[in-house]
Amino acid sequence: MLLNTKDLLKIAEENNFTIGAFNVTELSNFKCVYETAQEIQAPVIIAVAENEFDFCGKEYFTYIRQQLIKSYVPFALHLDHAHTVEKCMEAIQAGFTSVMIDGSSLPYEQNVEITKKVTEFAHMVNVSVEGELGTIGNFGTSDEGVVNNNIIYTRVEDVVDFIDKTNCDSLAVAIGTSHGLYPKGKEPRLQIELLKEIKKVARVPLVLHGGSGNLDEELDKAARAGIRKINIASEYKAAISRSLNKQMNEHHEVKFALMMPQAIEEGKKVVRNRIRLFRSDGKASLYYE
Ligand SMILES: [Zn+2]
Repeated sequence: MLLNTKDLLKIAEENNFTIGAFNVTELSNFKCVYETAQEIQAPVIIAVAENEFDFCGKEYFTYIRQQLIKSYVPFALHLDHAHTVEKCMEAIQAGFTSVMIDGSSLPYEQNVEITKKVTEFAHMVNVSVEGELGTIGNFGTSDEGVVNNNIIYTRVEDVVDFIDKTNCDSLAVAIGTSHGLYPKGKEPRLQIELLKEIKKVARVPLVLHGGSGNLDEELDKAARAGIRKINIASEYKAAISRSLNKQMNEHHEVKFALMMPQAIEEGKKVVRNRIRLFRSDGKASLYYE
């Protein structure tokens, strides 16, 4: 079943669990996330960043959509961190059911303006829109390839105004996470009290970016305090890459078809653990009640 993120996150909100959004760059990433979701019956968001979208090409998503539509487990197909209205339109034309327009680095009024523009046309075709307020840090291994670890925390006083003006369906907030993998010795501490204040006033589901490398305990706290979507990319991809590296070094193997199954298994362990931590395993049947 292929849904938009508004409908996917609504059930999560009602039943107090959190959905993992896993960034997918190519077929083995997709297989890893898709099969794990089936194995533990978890609703999942397949996320694709702008550069991943360009890398794959539009035709690739015809196949992805077919797989998602025929699945019993519910999915959404989501464009992650789009920076232009045009890119959102392109993804919608390619069959995405959800887009994120990231105007978080723009001045507030411009962020409102661009987000509103996207919701106006996306809602006409039942596509959900995620906005972002505040900016999260970046350790440089993200899909955007930007190194900037300045976190600008979301201001509670902007939240209601932003949601009212833009009509976005979910909101990414900055409470202390960063994109990419955290360097050794850097452990993020999330501002759970800030999150609780935001949750009190936000009428749409909240999203946490930069979930890779955070302590289980921190993500669990964020999920229980009301985050409904957590983005994971680097850590499961790192598990796949480490396995490929090991197979090449230790067994001098170079054939992808022989190496990938084992590498995917390593990625699945990470995806499975995150989904279980988010308490979305076994939740697929809720979408049929
Ligand atoms: Zn992000």
